[in-house]
Amino acid sequence: MILAFLGPPGSGKGTQAKLLAEKLKVPHICLGDMLREEVKLGTAIGRRAKELMEAGRLVPDELTIELVRGRISREDCRSGFIVDGFPRSEVQAEAFDQMLKELNLELSAVIYFRISEEQALKRLLLRAKLEGRADDNEATIRTRFEVYEKQTQPLIERYLKVGKLIEIDAAGTIEEVFQNLWEALS
Ligand code: AMP
Repeated sequence: MILAFLGPPGSGKGTQAKLLAEKLKVPHICLGDMLREEVKLGTAIGRRAKELMEAGRLVPDELTIELVRGRISREDCRSGFIVDGFPRSEVQAEAFDQMLKELNLELSAVIYFRISEEQALKRLLLRAKLEGRADDNEATIRTRFEVYEKQTQPLIERYLKVGKLIEIDAAGTIEEVFQNLWEALS
């Protein structure tokens, strides 16, 4: 099963992607984590991404496209994977279609995690306290919501049109949301 997880910051998609990937025994490809790792290692990609990430803006499409292309071309992705936080723009979605085609793979579904901005904000501020993520402060979170609305939200329509969108109520506890997700997939 090839799945992409889509949702605003704080929708819990990362947590759910990790749980589902463990259960399905497929790779969890988390773009945010991959980029944070590049920053930590001080690679060329990391150096280009750092400031944009701290500001809550998207890093250039070609960076994420290359990261995803490299990752999903590997053998362990042949029988499925979950990509979390990608695609996040129309350009990324186009490139994703193209690379899947080249690899002879088919997207099973895009899972959209629906949640109110108010509740997502609450979660992110709590996470800021617990994990101390540099981009979990109120100003940056606002930017991340704006960026999401402008650049990522239009993808909902795109995947709805091709019959690939599955919408999940993401407002509950981790267990409740996972239950919703599991039922929606079965
Ligand atoms: P996340 O952990 O998913 O909230 O991602 C953290 C940050 O990484 C985002 O605010 C962006 O700066 C960057 N990022 C993650 N995924 C993407 C993507 N698909 N395209 C562009 N930037 C991304």
